[in-house]
Amino acid sequence: MSASPAPALLIDDPAVLVEALQRQGWRVIGPQARDGAITYDPLTPGATLPKGLTDTQEGGHYRLGAGDPGRWFDYVVGPQSWKKHLFPSRQKLWEASRTDDGFAVTPVQDDYPKTAFFGVRACEIAAMEVQDRVFDNGDFADPGYGRRRAATLIVAVNCTRAAATCFCASMQTGPRAKAGFDIALTELATGTGLLVEVGSDRGAEIVDGLDLPRANAAHRAEAEAASAAAAAMQTRAMPPGMAGVLAANLDHPQWQVVADACLSCGNCTMACPTCFCSDVEDVNDLSGDHTERWRTWDSCFTVDFTYVHGGAVRRSTASRYRQWMTHKLSSWEAQFGTSGCVGCGRCIAWCPVGIDITAEAAAIAASPVPKE
Ligand code: SF4
Ligand code: SF4
Repeated sequence: MSASPAPALLIDDPAVLVEALQRQGWRVIGPQARDGAITYDPLTPGATLPKGLTDTQEGGHYRLGAGDPGRWFDYVVGPQSWKKHLFPSRQKLWEASRTDDGFAVTPVQDDYPKTAFFGVRACEIAAMEVQDRVFDNGDFADPGYGRRRAATLIVAVNCTRAAATCFCASMQTGPRAKAGFDIALTELATGTGLLVEVGSDRGAEIVDGLDLPRANAAHRAEAEAASAAAAAMQTRAMPPGMAGVLAANLDHPQWQVVADACLSCGNCTMACPTCFCSDVEDVNDLSGDHTERWRTWDSCFTVDFTYVHGGAVRRSTASRYRQWMTHKLSSWEAQFGTSGCVGCGRCIAWCPVGIDITAEAAAIAASPVPKE
């Protein structure tokens, strides 16, 4: 997808765009307020987008509450990411049944109709682009992921506020989406609507049918300024050069300091939009005539993740936390040509003990321990 020179437009109510997508046959998945958090679920026709909500987030803390009643998108990311739709947490890969002369294997393809992701933040587009490299990188191509990604349209929402856990500005992944979307929305001053920008031909086709008024230069400048303000309000940042710092500090005492607090629960890996570790399990029926192979999300924080003959390789919490963080911020670069972190802050908010990846990085960067 490349940026289009189409003029920016204005829309009063984002629900108009949701309805237009649904009329054109798109399944729309968008934000919903569920169980006290923002989740990304299919929007049934007539379902309303959450409005008047805002969030507060800190290490180990997330709260969704009342905000400006006139605003649609004054919350940032919740515990779930779009990963759950492109890379499902549990997925049947194939099934096999006994036949008269052996067995027959049947590949399984999940049902994924053409789907619009509505309300994708800039850091989440960056996370999808990271997973694109993981799931199709020359050595490996995951057909299910590729099929789902190709059938997905992206309606971005540029952030106009940041949570205390956000650090996308320091990762150059937000808060304004520069590419990777079909349509991008930016909420303007309360009551004046949203700026609509087009990023692809299929995005242009969708908005062309809506007969929207054109935005002017002042609207565009206001949108740019709102995103700049969201960047300026970020209080966390990833220190620069962490790939080299971490690679040179595998024996740093901070790994044990963080391990003393870490529960090894794996929440951070489940909430992270780029983590991709998985396991496969075979499920047999009692007769032995039928079996299924399932892929499920796994985590480098589980002891069994590194189980090989004779036991697990990473037995200590320190070794598992080190693996997670050094993979994210260091070896991922060599493996996939990009950082594995996009600065969304989920791992900070959803860590039950409030461990903060930016603070851990800063602690190691501030007191490097040279290798002997
Ligand atoms: S490591 Fe944390 S901040 Fe970075 S992308 Fe994953 S969840 Fe977001
Ligand atoms: S860093 Fe936090 S979320 Fe991650 S495994 Fe440790 S305790 Fe759980």
